[in-house]
Amino acid sequence: MHGHFRRGAVLESLGRWEESLAAYFLCLHFSSGSTDVTPIICQIIDRHLPDRNCTSFSFELTSRVVEICRSRLAADCSSTTDFSEEEKDDKIPHHLLDQSDFECILCTGLLDKPVTVACGHSFCQHCLSRSFDHTPFCPVCRSPLAEGFVQYARMSGKMNVDELLERVLHKHFRAACEEKRRQKEAERAHKLMVGVSESEELPVFVCTMAFPSLPCPLHVFEPQYRLMLRRCVESGGRRFGMCYPIDGGSFSSYGTVLYINTVEHTADGRSLITTTGEKRFEVLHRSTCDGYNTGMVRFIEDEPVTNPWEIVSLRSLQEEVFDHAKQWLEALPVYARLLLTQTVCCPLPGIDPHPENCPSGPMWVWWYVNALPTNPQRKIAFLKLTSLRERLLMLKDSLHLPIPTVSANGYDSREVHSGHQLTATH
Ligand SMILES: [Zn+2]
Ligand SMILES: [Zn+2]
Repeated sequence: MHGHFRRGAVLESLGRWEESLAAYFLCLHFSSGSTDVTPIICQIIDRHLPDRNCTSFSFELTSRVVEICRSRLAADCSSTTDFSEEEKDDKIPHHLLDQSDFECILCTGLLDKPVTVACGHSFCQHCLSRSFDHTPFCPVCRSPLAEGFVQYARMSGKMNVDELLERVLHKHFRAACEEKRRQKEAERAHKLMVGVSESEELPVFVCTMAFPSLPCPLHVFEPQYRLMLRRCVESGGRRFGMCYPIDGGSFSSYGTVLYINTVEHTADGRSLITTTGEKRFEVLHRSTCDGYNTGMVRFIEDEPVTNPWEIVSLRSLQEEVFDHAKQWLEALPVYARLLLTQTVCCPLPGIDPHPENCPSGPMWVWWYVNALPTNPQRKIAFLKLTSLRERLLMLKDSLHLPIPTVSANGYDSREVHSGHQLTATH
């Protein structure tokens, strides 16, 4: 009954007078003799009749009309007084319902996991979550919503589904619900392959440098990136691309796919996530989706090394550069070494006994690339390389760079990011 009343109020606020009246009548019908609903509905009817060039009804006359409609509905429904809530929903005459009344005003699609907020408006759960990225008000009437409700929704990503609406949807619009479910499953199958298959468009977070195998903790607070993050997690794929911002609002042509390990939401709408770098990629085509960047990409892997002589030579070069890099690191002043290691967010990995086997080479190389006190362009150049030998030699060259210094503002040589990247806490 309350569901029909809320529905009547929503439709009335949208100016859909006849449909709201039908909803109120259903509410009356299911009120089973409750006396408090009729006067409210009579007032609403009286309020609207003058707009339609009709003579205003008296309370008595309105009540009579209501009674007539009520008895008609009762006849249609073969009403009895002992229906459960679910049985009553089943008795709603189909011809009184229109699919367009069950569409979400935010996405214009059939309500998906409908959530009805305190003011009576209903939305898809994911549409309302998206709205909460921007504002804690009802997206239709701008009513402020309970702080606890919004905070819980932001932190958990969950809201109670309106069971009445969901039951009515599945009962009366089964085919449309089934079609929507099939579409979602097809979309999900595609999204699962994001960051795995080159044929799927990759969401791109433009923020900082990320490298294969290394952790990259991030602080997500902008609404478009919160939406991107939610989509990545909900799809089950949990992958997006990370590129470095460049002048003019664009981003680097090379980046790294990040896999989301953990997500922690805060009550004020921010998210703290931990990610790990996977494949490198080159952006072939750029686009946008709902405010964030996307790209069609080509994954980058090292050329395979199969010749036994080359493998021996590569392993020997790895040992040489590893030792050289370690000496370089140990020779740094303590403050500089601490600052460098803090930028990477994980301890220095050991040498890889089979460096030729990994498509992005040994993890320790990326650790040094990330820690290097150099400009982003030079680091991006490392991402492009498809030869481990060249990457090792380039790292060896880079170890002659000047050591970082400390200023009043902190670490001079460290790049200024857009505020998303978290510093290491270990
Ligand atoms: Zn929606
Ligand atoms: Zn509202």
